[in-house]
Amino acid sequence: MNLRALRRTLAIELAYRPGGVLATKIHLKHVAVATTEGYASRPGGAQAELLAEANKHESERNLDLVWEEFRNYQQGIMPAGPGARELTESFAHIDAKLDPADAPAAKVQRNDREILSLLTKRAKVLHLGLANYCWFTDPSRALCLRLAGTPTADKPLIGMCDSARCPQATHHPGHRSVWADHADKTKTFLGELGPTRRTERTRLQADYDRATRVITAIDTATEAST
Ligand code: SF4
Repeated sequence: MNLRALRRTLAIELAYRPGGVLATKIHLKHVAVATTEGYASRPGGAQAELLAEANKHESERNLDLVWEEFRNYQQGIMPAGPGARELTESFAHIDAKLDPADAPAAKVQRNDREILSLLTKRAKVLHLGLANYCWFTDPSRALCLRLAGTPTADKPLIGMCDSARCPQATHHPGHRSVWADHADKTKTFLGELGPTRRTERTRLQADYDRATRVITAIDTATEAST
């Protein structure tokens, strides 16, 4: 038994009683109720509100990003990366639904609201990687989860993302600078390596080649529109 664990157990015991959060706050001399809620792992209150607000902002941001990519698609600026084809097909599917030739005139409402509602499903599976978008539609296909040995997890492990190889990853013009910067730095490291560092050289060279492949693919997909 240690004092810290006892304090925590006491907080939880107190906080889960009716009116207990306030009693715990006073007893433990916390400045804010939010601290007490976090300390006692108590669901609800300011913590839950903050989480709900963060989730709302995240959903809106995702929808904005998908919307932007859909517009890019319509202008011929395609995604690159292993998941590009799947994303393009889903955009084509949405685009086809908006085609007046395929729908009775009365039902056609080519307004932003309709497009947004069609894109919402996609936005829900979007996760942001450092240099890619992750479209987490199927955990069993997630390379990061396979590598981590947790193929049924409900969220991707962005920290273990290998977007050049995962079928759910796409690269877009906005990611180019990250890859270009990585390629530049890797090239500099390669130039500084001594002749005896063969293993390091092989690893860095593979890293550099991968970065340049991604950059070329982004450029090719973007240039297709010009
Ligand atoms: S490897 Fe990357 S793109 Fe693939 S599921 Fe994991 S985080 Fe998403």
